Amino acid sequence: MDDAKTTMAPPVYLMMDAPKPPKPHEGCDVCGALVDERTEAARAGDWSRVVDLNVEIGRHRAGLHK
Ligand SMILES: [Zn+2]
Repeated sequence: MDDAKTTMAPPVYLMMDAPKPPKPHEGCDVCGALVDERTEAARAGDWSRVVDLNVEIGRHRAGLHK
């Protein structure tokens, strides 16, 4: 899997005005906190942070909620 971090990809995420968060795992505080933070960042228009948090959530879920 190529996560395109090192390529000069265009900011495709700008085309989605409301990117869907990965679903938080039921009852997990970490998931909840990350999703809340992501929602805040989206509200503030901080899309690079939204993308970072989506990665963060995905990584956390992959590690903890297989
Ligand atoms: Zn979690």
